[in-house]
Amino acid sequence: VTADRRPLVIRDPRFLEHRAPGHHPECPERLIAIERAIAPLAGRLCDRSPRPADDGEILRAHEAAHLAQLDALSGSSARLDPDTYSAPRSPEIARLAAGGAIDAARAVARGEAPCAFVLARPPGHHAERGRAMGFCLLNNAAIAVRALLDDPGLERVAVVDWDVHHGNGTQHAFEAERDVLFVSTHQFPLYPGTGAMREVGEGRGAGSTVNLPLPAGCGDGEYGAVFDALVVPVLLEFRPEMIVVSAGFDAHASDPLASMRVSTAGFAALAARIRAVADEHCGGRLLLLLEGGYDLDALGDSVRSTLEVLAAPEAPIPPHPTPAREFAPLVAKFREVQSHYWAALRSRTFA
Ligand SMILES: [Zn+2]
Repeated sequence: VTADRRPLVIRDPRFLEHRAPGHHPECPERLIAIERAIAPLAGRLCDRSPRPADDGEILRAHEAAHLAQLDALSGSSARLDPDTYSAPRSPEIARLAAGGAIDAARAVARGEAPCAFVLARPPGHHAERGRAMGFCLLNNAAIAVRALLDDPGLERVAVVDWDVHHGNGTQHAFEAERDVLFVSTHQFPLYPGTGAMREVGEGRGAGSTVNLPLPAGCGDGEYGAVFDALVVPVLLEFRPEMIVVSAGFDAHASDPLASMRVSTAGFAALAARIRAVADEHCGGRLLLLLEGGYDLDALGDSVRSTLEVLAAPEAPIPPHPTPAREFAPLVAKFREVQSHYWAALRSRTFA
């Protein structure tokens, strides 16, 4: 018996209507590049259009004043901070991105799809409860996770954020809670400045925030080593019922906004590692949400290589290249900080 492995893909031409008045890296051409790159996969994907998230769904993750301010921008163009714009239809399109994330999350949680990739914009992981920030209007990941937790039957969700920037909004949404794990790899220091390794969660959520701030220049070897030494063991110990990935591709070597060196194949290798955990512990339940990625060719190619991993009958984990020698002490430091919370990091040695 061959199970239908076709990933659900959420996409919609309306996502192209969120556009800055002038040049901006978070542009509609990003989705056009992705569409072009994944066109050969058409028969291996299952398509669905999004619907807008309603007020109740958004207010599970945002303050009412933020939603009211966003809705008030409908029909006009505005700059919400030096990086973040709202075009005339952006409030509606942001609701569509959030609604797509919710529906994809539910489809995966209910077994209607094995996994899903939401190819929406604007991205979400910088949006805080009370404000838009860093190209993000609504926090799609936080809204989708809240919807999952509100549904009966699902209590433990892990968010893995491999965007090159720290997902401050998502961290803040869940940092005081024990049943949502937030794991982030990000270049540090870099925008938005949060995500130091000592930010580990608060109160009963202590330990359920895992920040892995990386120096500029990390590539497939360093990312693979950090995933194998920390991300995967922590996920296995947490035992999530579903994994949500804030999938940004701006750690790519070609990206203009950051200084990492991950390759297209490197993103596929990260996806294979996460998929293996999902297959082993979550019945395969895996949701990817597009975040950043600003080199158009690298973005398209990386989304394609990631989707190929999701769609494949089996996705073996490729070994990672050897990380730079000076990287080992940083991994040891991460393990030391996190070993207070994760037994798996006390009992295994990093090779
Ligand atoms: Zn980013």
